[in-house]
Amino acid sequence: RVVLGIESSCDETGAGLVRDGRLLGHAVASSMAEHARYGGVVPEIAARAHVHSFNPVVQQALDQAGLTMSDIGAVAVTTGPGLSGALQVGLAGAKGIAYALDVPLYGVHHLAGHVAADTLEHGPLPEPCMVLIVSGGHTSLLLVRDLVRDPILHLGDTLDDAAGECFDKVARVFGLPYPGGPAIDRAARDGDRKAVSFPRPLTGTRDERHRFAFSFSGLKTAAARWAEQHRAEGRELPVADGAASLQEAVADVLTRKAVDACREHDVSTLIVVGGVAANSRVRELAEQRCRSAGITLRVPPLGLCTDNGAMIAAVGDLLVRSGAEPAPLDLSIDPSAPLTYAALTPAARAP
Ligand code: ATP
Ligand code: MG
Ligand code: FE
Repeated sequence: RVVLGIESSCDETGAGLVRDGRLLGHAVASSMAEHARYGGVVPEIAARAHVHSFNPVVQQALDQAGLTMSDIGAVAVTTGPGLSGALQVGLAGAKGIAYALDVPLYGVHHLAGHVAADTLEHGPLPEPCMVLIVSGGHTSLLLVRDLVRDPILHLGDTLDDAAGECFDKVARVFGLPYPGGPAIDRAARDGDRKAVSFPRPLTGTRDERHRFAFSFSGLKTAAARWAEQHRAEGRELPVADGAASLQEAVADVLTRKAVDACREHDVSTLIVVGGVAANSRVRELAEQRCRSAGITLRVPPLGLCTDNGAMIAAVGDLLVRSGAEPAPLDLSIDPSAPLTYAALTPAARAP
């Protein structure tokens, strides 16, 4: 079966087509530029943009795959977590297609999509595998067995801000353009990562509960204070050095904890996913540290790290092939869904 995946949880409208673990085509439209003047995603604007982009994006994905609507054998859609208005648009569209074609519908967890994105490039996930998920809204270390059958075990989550959020907020204070993550990455190229010694929160903690937990709000504050101090003293802000040092602190904490978690749980594969997995220093440091620890590292290609429909289709394809029960057509959204299962309808789990 060809599975159509629909993503609309935030500011990207994505459609992807996957069959038997293979990506056939995908397209993404982003309303990012429309949010730039507000410095963050405006939910109402995002929802309207999804209405506008839904049909063209689905058509583009089909064109890229050389398929037509009638080739679609199942539909998977993000039902949470995310912005409710934005999720509603994708779900309504997905239901319409599933109903019109009389094909099964699956409600998928957005973050399971981020995890599954990697399978489109590197094949099935080894079981178990360690997953570091780092995005705009989440930062977690997960122990994953069968992604669509077993519950996902959280070894640690962020206690406050997500890593992406930290980049986005500090970028604003540094006067860098929106969105902040990619801007920090670019600015850091010309900077010295040892210029400022920012804190490494929750590393070396003796508290067992926090060994694999993260905290980025203190780091954010430290970076903001560093910038304010320069301004107060009338000195020019060395943005490149600040960006490189901040990026180093984030990448150091993320990769150190991820490698430690692999060692402790005797897991030989680490998968780094989510928007921040696109960060060049995170990728570089993860490679170095995994190589010296004898851990196999997998990171999705850049275009599949940030939000897209292909990753949702990838989860749908796994659900179809595992014989999971489809969702009823009265499926609804769950804007704050916890990440325990990839499928957001209980009946779809463990056939
Ligand atoms: P979530 O998946 O948690 O619901 P989201 O969907 O908004 O959140 P993603 O699309 O996965 O998040 O990722 C967006 C985040 O990734 C933003 O915070 C963005 O700044 C960050 N990001 C993207 N590219 C880079 C980069 N090169 N370096 C650092 N951060 C980046
Ligand atoms: Mg986005
Ligand atoms: Fe995301």
